Amino acid sequence: MTKKLLVVGAHSADYVWRAGGTIAKVVEQGGEVLNLALSYGERGESGVLWKENPNRSVEEVKQIRHEMSEQASAILGCEFRCLDWGDYPMILTDERIEQLTEIIRNFAPNVIITHTPKDPFNPDHPLAYVAVEKARILSTGAGVAAAFKRIDPPIWYCFEPHQPELSGFMPNTFIDITSVFDKKIAAMGCMRAQEYLKDYYTELGARRGNHARRISGKQQVKFAEAHQRVVPVVLDTIVPDIHFS
Ligand SMILES: [Zn+2]
Repeated sequence: MTKKLLVVGAHSADYVWRAGGTIAKVVEQGGEVLNLALSYGERGESGVLWKENPNRSVEEVKQIRHEMSEQASAILGCEFRCLDWGDYPMILTDERIEQLTEIIRNFAPNVIITHTPKDPFNPDHPLAYVAVEKARILSTGAGVAAAFKRIDPPIWYCFEPHQPELSGFMPNTFIDITSVFDKKIAAMGCMRAQEYLKDYYTELGARRGNHARRISGKQQVKFAEAHQRVVPVVLDTIVPDIHFS
């Protein structure tokens, strides 16, 4: 069975910095990734595009953001989809939660990854967490008649926020992204509205790689991404199969 990862970002470029390597790694291992953005980040994360041309319409900015994310997703090997809910502020409605629930139910991911519940620097990121929290559990059949389609609860992670300590982020899972790091760099290069982040996240990949080496003793890990697991892990043995490239 194909392993499936669903990535849920509040804005259309969030995934590339925080989970670009994780996405490419799943794809490299034969898995399928749906890269879902709740909005384009047209107001809050497109400053460079507005500065370039203040007369641009919102629709034009969204179009550019869409193209950038599609390009980056193609490099990483995943499908990109944007729900266009609007940003700064993002509004959650019952209909939108239902829309996300349907997507989760239909895609039936093994794993979902999204933002942390706290981010003092961004009003939308914690809303993505809330939306995933509700939709994930609704997709498993909570509160609906048994005749409705339901899925097993996907494993759930938060990816690393930009200011981890101030967002209460505690990394407890590191993904070795060494073999796909060139793809992450190329994908980050597509996001010209936030080019300033590329160097920062290249450095962070090396720093997290250092941590992953120290934790595991695996000297081959050069670059890593850190995530925080939200729900406990259920294993069939205390000595798990560790797949290490
Ligand atoms: Zn964002």
